[in-house]
This record gives sequence, structure tokens and C-alpha cells, in this order.
Amino acid sequence: MMLKSVLHHSTTIHSLRCHFNTIPHRQMTTGTQSIVSRLKSSGLLQTKGLIGGKWTDAYDGRTIEVNNPASGEVIASVACMGEKETKDAISSAYEAFAHWSKLTGSERSNRLRSWYNLLMQHKEELGELITLEQGKPLKEAIGEVGYGASFLEFFAEEAKRVYGDIIPSTLPDRRVFVLKQPVGVVAAITPWNFPLAMITRKVGPALACGCTVVIKPSEFTPLTALAAAELALQSGIPPGVLNVVMGDAPKIGNSLLESTQVRKITFTGSTAVGKKLMAGAADTVKKVSLELGGNAPCIVFDDADLEVALKGTLATKFRNSGQTCVCANRILVQEGIYEKFTSAFSNAVKDLKVGNGFSEGVVQGPLINEAAVQKVESFVQDAISKGANVLAGGKRHSLGFTFYEPTIIGDVKNDMLIARQEVFGPVAPIIRFKTEEEAIQIANDTNAGLAAYFFTNSIKRSWRVSEALEYGIVGVNEGLVSTEVAPFGGYKQSGLGREGSKYGLDEYTEIKYICMGNLG
Ligand code: ADP
Repeated sequence: MMLKSVLHHSTTIHSLRCHFNTIPHRQMTTGTQSIVSRLKSSGLLQTKGLIGGKWTDAYDGRTIEVNNPASGEVIASVACMGEKETKDAISSAYEAFAHWSKLTGSERSNRLRSWYNLLMQHKEELGELITLEQGKPLKEAIGEVGYGASFLEFFAEEAKRVYGDIIPSTLPDRRVFVLKQPVGVVAAITPWNFPLAMITRKVGPALACGCTVVIKPSEFTPLTALAAAELALQSGIPPGVLNVVMGDAPKIGNSLLESTQVRKITFTGSTAVGKKLMAGAADTVKKVSLELGGNAPCIVFDDADLEVALKGTLATKFRNSGQTCVCANRILVQEGIYEKFTSAFSNAVKDLKVGNGFSEGVVQGPLINEAAVQKVESFVQDAISKGANVLAGGKRHSLGFTFYEPTIIGDVKNDMLIARQEVFGPVAPIIRFKTEEEAIQIANDTNAGLAAYFFTNSIKRSWRVSEALEYGIVGVNEGLVSTEVAPFGGYKQSGLGREGSKYGLDEYTEIKYICMGNLG
């Protein structure tokens, strides 16, 4: 405690650093400085963790630098927390649960609705923050704010509808009731590709049914999470109901897993970390929801409408520079339309403007970090060395940093690295196929099962292929499928549970069966 208070007042507080990013660090340009100072003056640039309603430094004073991936500029230094801060965040969420879970659904609904309103009022500023720390184009970033906020609006409405059941009894003097109750303290671990939406998609339903949360955002994009938390406080969500810790991910993760007070862990991120968390949750038998990696096939059949297929494939492949778990990872094109589709697709891709997300007309931002670019490079090299052809792009962009050219690779085979694993970058590998059976076989030949897409004008084929694909989400003649009203989640190793929609609420409730006897 002594050490904690000394460090809180230490002038050398920023001299201790945790390092995560490999982008060369630079001072802010005047353009960035003016955005940052605007965000500071509106109170949306928070750099401390949130524990029990109080903005808190790391107890040992350590900080992490947050970079702009488009320029390497250091935007801010945020608290680099670990075990002790996480334990305190859990305790405050546990204490707050007693009160928050006893509010009526409509009281919780009102708070969530106010939070939604505040996010929407600050849509532009939050969008700027997302572009600054994540790199996606500003328009897309503002779009994420609307999408992220929609989960709060949806679950504010659902908060009033956590219905139970009355089941006809097998005995005349008994009554059988089913009650849905909040699971308790929820740990939410989120990634950097959607710094806001991956949080609201978890926290919205958790808070709606009466749970309290400890959020651990990605170390690459903590600023959006902290800004959202500030707006949650302003909206009247009581202290302790929503806590944010960030820093040493394994230490924070272990503290969350070990705690018997944390009753549920919900995670979006890599399959490797998801598996670790699932194993770690076994000791305390926590409920687990996982949104892990995908390997989305996108099938273009001969009978597809070419324009619709092009538009849909571009949207699903190149959104967020290919950095979403539902991005098409393999484009399967039937032989009759192969030449026509690949040539139109290559032309369209050459027109995609790459650059800093704040520049006018840019639709492709940078990748999140150097490791991401190296992964993309190694997958492309592997494909070329095994006989694939580059039809567009194929290398780092002349802008430098972590920019990569929008790329199309033809003649890819399903056993190449790029078709086996998620590339998570702006590279579209095209696989040629002959029959519908072959396409389904290739599409399902993976351990992942999150999203799949296909394009056809046949109604019969639409049903047949939708049912045959072993995926949790199927887009038919549509490349953008995410919405708060539909269940999002995967088959196989892509995860457990669903987010969004009425199904998303069930992940945060326990079912209690009450048997009332001797009523006769
Ligand atoms: P990505 O490769 O997309 O960054 P990760 O799975 O590494 O995906 O990261 C997703 C989230 O999981 C981030 O918030 C990250 O800090 C967190 N994380 C990474 N390793 C661990 C761990 N061992 N325990 C808990 N959280 C972790």
C-alpha cells in the first residue's frame, strides 16, 4: 500500500515502461497533436485504468506507449497493470454486483440507453481515437462507433426481457419455474481490430442482465476502451460495475482465471490464446465464450451475378485491411467464371486507395504492427514458392511503416499456408474449383468455422450450400453480415457461444429451476 501511494505521487512515474509495439516510435505531428488535444479537452483521452469508479495508475507506475500504426507516432502512455490491480478490479466488480443485479431491468436499461446516447453524441471523436490507435479509415472507424453503440441500444431494450418460464408440472401439487439470473462478475478480454465494438458486444448483454465486468482491452488499442468507460461513468453506470485494466496480458489473464469471484470469461482474439483461457477456466469451472479465428471461404459460383459477387467479395475481404475474423480468407471461384471474376476483381483492387486513415478517400489503412506485415509476407512467399501467381499487389506498400498493398493471388491450392491459416491482412487468395461438391469439400476442410460466404442466383443452391457449410455465419449474396440483431459465433475451433441478438444474452445468465412442492 505504501509503495502504491509513493508511486502514485512519483515524478518518475513514466520512466518504467512495458514494451509491446515494434513500430519505430516518433513524436506527434502537429495534425495529430491537435486531434489529441481536442480529445484531451473533451475528457475522452484517458490513460489510467478504471477500478471501482476511480481512474488509477499502475501500482508500480509502469506505462505502455500507444502508437499510431500509420505513422509510428506515440499518441499516449497508458497504465501498464498486472495482478494486483486486476484483483482490486475484480473485488470492486464483485461488490458492485450486489447492488447492480438487484436493480430492475428497466433501471439497467435506462443506464445502458444513456451510455448508447453518449457514444453516439461523441461518434466523431471516438472514431478519431479508433483511427489514431488502430489505423482504420476514419469513415470506417465512425461506422464502428455506430455498430459498437448498437449493441448497447439493443441490450438496453433486452434488459427488460430476461424472461423465465413456467413449466407444466408432472404432479398436481407442484409448480415448476425457471428463473434466469446474472452469472456474476464477467471478465471480458478483447482484441485491437474493433477497439469499441468487441467491448460493447460483451459488456452490453452482461450489464443488461445484471452482471458486472472487468474489461481487459488490447494493449495496442486501450484508448478507445478507456474513452468508452469514461462515457459509461458519465451515463450513470455506478462505480465498480465496469472496470478496465490493461498491461501485462498473461498476468491479468491469470488473475482473472484464478479468481473464484469471476464467474464467466468472454474473449475475442487468437485461437491460441482462446485455448489457453479455456484450459485455464477449467480450474474454477467458469462459463466461457470464445470468438476465435476464422478461415472464411467465399465461393463464387458460375451462376452468380458478377457485380454482386465482386462488391460482396471486396467488402468481406478488404474491410479493415483484411483484419477481421470474418474477412474472406479463401476466395473459391468456379472455373466457368474464374477468368472474368479474377480480372474484374484485380482491377477493382488496384483502385483501393491506401494511406493514413485521416486522409480523404483512403479505404485501406495500415496493418496493426510489424509482426502482422511479416506474417502476411511469409504467407505470400509460401504461396508463390508453391506455384501461385500474384495478380495484384504482392508486397509492402511504398508508404512504408505497416502498409501492405491490396493483393490478389491466383492459382492457390487449399494446402498452401495462406489457405490453411488466417492471413489477417489485405491478401485475397483465389482457388479454382469445378463442382459444387468440390467447393463445399474445400470450404469445410479446415478446423475453423466462423463465417462463410457464397454467391449464386439459384434459390435451390442457396439452401443446399447454406445447410452444407460447417460455419456459424453464412452470407448468401452478401459480404457484410455483422449486425447486433443476429447471433455471431463459430463452429469447430472458431469458438463457443454467440454474441449479439437474443442468444447473446443467454451467455450471461444462469438458469435456476425452482420446484415448489406441497401446494395441495
Ligand atoms: P491478436 O493476435 O489478434 O492480437 P491475441 O489473442 O493475442 O490476438 O489478443 C487478444 C486479446 O488477448 C488482447 O487483449 C491480448 O492482450 C489478450 N491476451 C494475449 N495473451 C493473453 C494471455 N496469456 N492471457 C490473457 N489475455 C491475453
